[in-house]
Amino acid sequence: MKLTVLGCTGSMSGPLSASSSYLVQATGVEADGTRREYSVVIELGSGAMGRLLSVLDPARLDAIALSHLHADHCVDIVGMHVYRKWHPDGQLPAIPVYSPCDGRERTRAIDGGDEADSYETFRFVEVVPGSSFAVGPMAFEVFEAWHTVPAVAFRIVGPSENGGEAVFAFSGDTDYCEGVVEAARNADLLLCEAALEDERDTFRGVHLTGARAGHVAAQAGAKRTLLTHLQPWTDRDVVMAHARKAYHGELGCVEAGEVYAI
Ligand SMILES: [Zn+2]
Ligand SMILES: [Zn+2]
Repeated sequence: MKLTVLGCTGSMSGPLSASSSYLVQATGVEADGTRREYSVVIELGSGAMGRLLSVLDPARLDAIALSHLHADHCVDIVGMHVYRKWHPDGQLPAIPVYSPCDGRERTRAIDGGDEADSYETFRFVEVVPGSSFAVGPMAFEVFEAWHTVPAVAFRIVGPSENGGEAVFAFSGDTDYCEGVVEAARNADLLLCEAALEDERDTFRGVHLTGARAGHVAAQAGAKRTLLTHLQPWTDRDVVMAHARKAYHGELGCVEAGEVYAI
């Protein structure tokens, strides 16, 4: 699997990045035996549509997966709808959108559309903890997160870039909870939010701090952990230092435009 960071700033777009969006791709085999690359975008925050256009023709996108329906994770779905519906070469095929809650109603609310628009460029599928779905060779499992709205973490098992299978886990937005640890169990790569600074942000039930992200990674036994969703006022060095106290695996912090082999 290959991960491309389209946007990684937490809660809003930042000076150097769109808000959350990650392109995950893997080569698989179609029913007729043809090999091709499958592409799923996880989250479509503000500015993400433009970044996606810079790396992938949206006509080649197979699915969208959303960890929850906060605007910084899904607002550019409206741009994706317009692109697919009104493309000058003709409407693009409908693709699945996996999310908690009612993705169609959320899209309509962002768009300001009326009941006449069914958003037929998407096939909305509600996911709950314990459910699963597949995008080509990538098998998604859904785990419960702890956030201010229904939110999930994803565990994705797919072909490794080095041969064999690999596990990629994505925390979504969450505070420390068992579901996120389970999603990341023995993951080859854990992409983990760390929006908050430990001594500054003492409220609970919204996000991870550096220390709590480190605990998730350590408890899960993740082989490599990349921190993300840092808010513009959160200090990367502080968060990294706090995470390092609990976690002794390979640790980094993503930046927009980076590509990782999993
Ligand atoms: Zn967020
Ligand atoms: Zn959120």
